Amino acid sequence: MKLLVVGSVAFDAIETPFGKTDKILGGAATYISIASSILGVKSGIVSVVGGDFPQADLDMLSGRGVNIEGIEIIKEGKTFFWSGKYHNDLNSRDTLVTEVNVLENFDPKIPESMQDAEILLLGNLHPGVQLSVLEKMNNRPKLVILDTMNFWMDSALDILLQMIAKTDVISINDEEARQLSGEYSLVKAAQKIHEMGPQFVIIKKGEHGALLFHDGKIFAIPALPLEEVYDPTGAGDTFAGGFASYLAKKEDFSFETMKSALIVGSAMASFTVEKFGTQRLEEVTEGEMIARIKSFKELTTFQVHV
Ligand code: AMP
Repeated sequence: MKLLVVGSVAFDAIETPFGKTDKILGGAATYISIASSILGVKSGIVSVVGGDFPQADLDMLSGRGVNIEGIEIIKEGKTFFWSGKYHNDLNSRDTLVTEVNVLENFDPKIPESMQDAEILLLGNLHPGVQLSVLEKMNNRPKLVILDTMNFWMDSALDILLQMIAKTDVISINDEEARQLSGEYSLVKAAQKIHEMGPQFVIIKKGEHGALLFHDGKIFAIPALPLEEVYDPTGAGDTFAGGFASYLAKKEDFSFETMKSALIVGSAMASFTVEKFGTQRLEEVTEGEMIARIKSFKELTTFQVHV
C-alpha cells in the first residue's frame, strides 16, 4: 500500500445557491481515497464510523480498491455529521452543524497492512490525533502531508505547531496561512511556515488556484474556469488526494514532480465541484481526467516574443 489516509468518513448535508441535500456521503478521507482510486493508486483509510454508516458506502470504497480495514465501526455510535451552507459566491460557507459523534474519542489504530505506507496524508482532524498516528507508525513514512484549518489554530495551536514541525508538506488556504504566520503577504507567510518545519508549503486560493513554495522557489497554478459549479465541498480534500496520489505513483517527491502533482490535484478537484457530494468524483473516468489535465495545459501555456 502506497498511501495511508487518516481523516473523517462522514455524513454531510449541504446547501448551495443551486440546491440542497439530505445526509449524503462525505468526509475528507472519502474524497481523498476516491481521488486516489481514479489514479489507480492503492490507498488505505484509518477512520471511524458509527453503526448507522451504510455498508453500501463501505462497499463502494472497497470496490474501488481502497483498503478499509482501518475504518473502525462503533456499532452503538453515530457517524460524524457536518452541515454547511455556501454563500452566493461559493467561496465562503457557514458551518450549520457539526456533530462530532464517534470522532470525539477517535483513537486511530493502524492495521499491519498499512504500516509500510510511503506517504501519510493527514486529513483535517484534531492535531493531537494526527500526531498520534505518526507516533504509531513503526517507521516514519517517506513523506508526511498535513491538511489543517483555522479551527485548530484557534483551539489547539500548541499541539498543531508540534504536528507542523513533523510535517514535510502542509496544505492550507490563504486565510489560514495568514492566521498561522501573522503575515499578510503570502510569500512572507510561506517563509514563516517553512521555519515551523515543512519544506513544502501549499497555499490554496479557492477559485483563484494554488501556490507551491519550496526552497525560495514559487510555482503558481490557476483553477480551471468551469461552466458547472454546484458544490465546493470536498474540493480541498480531493486536491490533496490527487496531489498525494500522483507523488505516490511517480515515487518521487522533488519540487518538479510536486508541480505536476499540483496540476493533477487541481484537475481532480475541478470534478468534485460539478455535482453535490462525491457524486461527480465517483463517475470520473481516467480519460476524462487526462482531458482535463490537457485543458489545464492549454490554459496556462503561452509564448511571448518581446
Ligand atoms: P473541504 O470542503 O475540503 O474543506 O472538506 C469538507 C469535508 O470535511 C466534509 O465532507 C466534512 O464531512 C468534513 N469535515 C468538516 N468539518 C470537519 C471536522 N471538524 N473534522 C473532520 N472532518 C470535517
